[in-house]
Amino acid sequence: MNDILPDETPHWRRLEQVVCRLLNSYGYGEIRLPLVEHTELFKRSIGEVTDIVEKEMYSFDDRNGESLTLRPEGTAGCVRAAIQQGLLTVPQRLWYAGPMFRYERPQKGRQRQFHQIGVEALGVASVEMDAELILLCARLWRRLGLAGSVELQINSIGSSAARRAYRAALVEYLSAHRAALDEDSQRRLDSNPLRILDSKNPDTQALLDAAPVLADYLDAEARDDFDRLRELLTAAGVAFVVNPRLVRGLDYYNKTVFEFVTERLGAQGTVCAGGRYDNLVEQLGGKSTPAVGFAMGMERLVLLMLETGAAGDAAPAQADVYAVAVGEDAHREALVAVEAVRDSLPGLAIVQHTGGGSFKSQLKRADKSGASVALIWGEDEVRAQSVTVKFLRDGAGQGDKTGQRSVPRDQLEATLRAAFAD
Ligand code: ATP
Ligand code: MG
Repeated sequence: MNDILPDETPHWRRLEQVVCRLLNSYGYGEIRLPLVEHTELFKRSIGEVTDIVEKEMYSFDDRNGESLTLRPEGTAGCVRAAIQQGLLTVPQRLWYAGPMFRYERPQKGRQRQFHQIGVEALGVASVEMDAELILLCARLWRRLGLAGSVELQINSIGSSAARRAYRAALVEYLSAHRAALDEDSQRRLDSNPLRILDSKNPDTQALLDAAPVLADYLDAEARDDFDRLRELLTAAGVAFVVNPRLVRGLDYYNKTVFEFVTERLGAQGTVCAGGRYDNLVEQLGGKSTPAVGFAMGMERLVLLMLETGAAGDAAPAQADVYAVAVGEDAHREALVAVEAVRDSLPGLAIVQHTGGGSFKSQLKRADKSGASVALIWGEDEVRAQSVTVKFLRDGAGQGDKTGQRSVPRDQLEATLRAAFAD
């Protein structure tokens, strides 16, 4: 579980702001959900034999002896809320952001507390909704400057009946080669064989080359929808690759599944994953409601923004103005004057030096802060009821604003207003 420090948070904030604005513009409303749910909710939705439920959940008994779990993902809680709050009378476009918890092996792009932005469209069965979500993602990558770094992969995993039939065929084929499978895949053969398609093991992947293909088992409706999805993406000019081995680790998906993957982050290359889950709402006790959604991993997106240079320069300057004071009286004058400037110029970022030190050391800090103006108070300024205004950068537009001058205290706001006029 990581600390996210002030030099990284500006990138997080930018990501959040771009996402928030974009989702608003597509008509999605934000929902804020609890971090803790009944353990049962995740068992019933994600599925008992998935990695998450088998070995990754942070579960505990509360004082009442009820088993609760730190949410490992957001869809289950979102659907629970939609059912409980009576949101399912009309189609809902919802999104949420926040921490998720999974007991995984930490590595680059994989944390035990990580953050997702999730989007769920509830109540629309048609594949146009799937396309809308994918187009929305594609637009997000363009806005973030990541469009060239991610590839869209799509697949259809059909109805649960189609998957059952495929599952039987896959198990039959792989059972004959059981000894050649990696350890994880051997275990999954009995519990969750579709996940074997996902295996990163090259020998297992080679074995899969001759395995039955999910596409051959699809029901007619899923096949039609998948054709239509490809038609819509092509019409909208969004490039994609059909990955016939793309499945999702959670039980509740059907029909469309998709991922945006990058080669820039090593093994943890999936930055966004989603798909349709038409049976989940009913499975959780709501009225039958089709649904489709996705979640993006924020750590991986920030890493990718940094890796590709899309994050832009380092964090912006901490301050516009840095206030320097030496001596107790000077410090008092500075404190009062800076508060007055904050009243009249609320947009200005002013950092008051703390921790004492000489003028020289304080001014060094002023320079480091990125501020373009230092305000200086010492004995002379206190006596004269003035303040020394020192311009720290002589960049474009500053004209004669470089250097320093003494300004009567009551003209400080006007001087700063003029200095930051552009
Ligand atoms: P993976 O195959 O990488 O484990 P997943 O299939 O478990 O992913 P989902 O549950 O679909 O992932 O979550 C959606 C996205 O959330 C992932 O594509 C990834 O970007 C991010 N994510 C999932 N688990 C983690 C984690 N432990 N640390 C950081 N990001 C994660
Ligand atoms: Mg996982």
